[in-house]
Amino acid sequence: MFWKSESNTQKFSHPSLIKQLTLMFGSMVFILLSLTAILLYVVLAHNLNYNDAKDAKHELTLIANMLSNNLSNPMALEQEIILEPLTMKKQKYYCRIVSEQGIVTYETPGMTEQFSLGVFPSVNPKTKISKAIFFKASNHRHYVLKSQIATGEDGKRYQIQLAYDTLQHYTSLRKYRLMLFIIILTSFIVCPLLCLVIAKRGLAPLQNLTDAIEKIHVKNLNCPIPVEHWPTELLKLVTAFNDLMVRLEKSFKQLSQFSADLAHELRTPVHSLINQLEITLSKPRTTEEYNSVLLSSLEECTNLGQLIDRLLFLARTENPTTAIEKVDINAATEIANICDFFEAAAEEKHVTFSCEGETIIHADRILFQRALSNLISNALKYTPSGGKIFIKTYSENKKTIIEVQDSGCGISAEHLNNIFDRFYRAEFARSKQTGGHGLGLAIVKNIMDLHGGSVEVTSVVNQGSTFKLIFPG
Ligand code: ADP
Repeated sequence: MFWKSESNTQKFSHPSLIKQLTLMFGSMVFILLSLTAILLYVVLAHNLNYNDAKDAKHELTLIANMLSNNLSNPMALEQEIILEPLTMKKQKYYCRIVSEQGIVTYETPGMTEQFSLGVFPSVNPKTKISKAIFFKASNHRHYVLKSQIATGEDGKRYQIQLAYDTLQHYTSLRKYRLMLFIIILTSFIVCPLLCLVIAKRGLAPLQNLTDAIEKIHVKNLNCPIPVEHWPTELLKLVTAFNDLMVRLEKSFKQLSQFSADLAHELRTPVHSLINQLEITLSKPRTTEEYNSVLLSSLEECTNLGQLIDRLLFLARTENPTTAIEKVDINAATEIANICDFFEAAAEEKHVTFSCEGETIIHADRILFQRALSNLISNALKYTPSGGKIFIKTYSENKKTIIEVQDSGCGISAEHLNNIFDRFYRAEFARSKQTGGHGLGLAIVKNIMDLHGGSVEVTSVVNQGSTFKLIFPG
């Protein structure tokens, strides 16, 4: 059954990629935009303030020059300090000239109400000019205040106090601030929306891929997802997925084949058992007849039992996670023991064993014995009377090899690739005669896989076969 359920998708899903991307990009764009806007505001405010201070200084210098040249002609000073500010459409500055004794000589009308003498910054004695300070007057307008010491035409020192109106710049800054606020507020809503659209569009191929995968069922496992039109990042995934499908389809076919073979293997003996018992029970029989039927039934059951044992063993070795207990095994000793075990059967068949070589193999003892027994048992089964079985062990290229060579009937080339498959019997009639189920070599292959090794075969029909168990060093 395929792993598919809405509730599972919801149960295990983390926040959606679209949401995460929207949140990340949205907040990043918003923060960047806000920072840029704030930075631009700070730079602009600084420039405007600087310009105001510069203009104030310029005006101060002008008045200081007049003071030193025109004290005897107060008309010009009066014009600059009293009349000009008043005649301006928007009063640009207030100015006051104070003598060393603190007596106000000239002053723009209305200045006292807005700026007392003490609010002006003190003058640096070296530069004779003060720093600019910003001040909000009682008329709610903003001014830059600056003072300067100047020497009059009469040789006396005077302090000039100037309050320069910054309203125009201040108003521009306020408008700019408002605009920035609107931009930031709008971007707070627009940025996530835009990012949502972009993320959705960017991740659309993922949804397409999900749709394509959802269309795959057991019946169309052999229809790969078309590889065109995928972005590079997904193309690898699609290719890997198609490869997986190929492997899955192969395993699926093998499994179906295995089930069919298994049913077939079990059905034949069970049917013959049922038939035999039905015929026996159809009429009264003698004790000898019952005995004979029971004996043949027992034989059939034993055969079935062996088949089930082999299948269980195969299932165990087929699982790649099966734990194996590797030890150092003296191969020559094991070979000799197994040959001893088959000695009686070999003698009966007039087949001779010969062994050669000394090696140490790092393997699971039980599994090793099983693999070697299967090969020797096959060699014995498929070698005619008077034949020879030669078993040797040696090391080659850091690998340890056990070779079982017989002078039997051999296997024709068309079968060689399949004899390690489950239930495969090369010459079916002959194998049936010898009583095999076609599982022995499949077990050998699984055992070798579990050891990280391999099994190889070479064979010449009517001359014999050579099986090699290759163990990694
Ligand atoms: P079986 O139990 O039928 O022998 P195996 O898996 O052991 O099953 O072997 C698969 C097939 O390979 C056998 O049916 C037989 O035809 C062939 N085979 C195996 N070993 C040999 C051999 N030493 N000589 C000739 N044929 C062999």
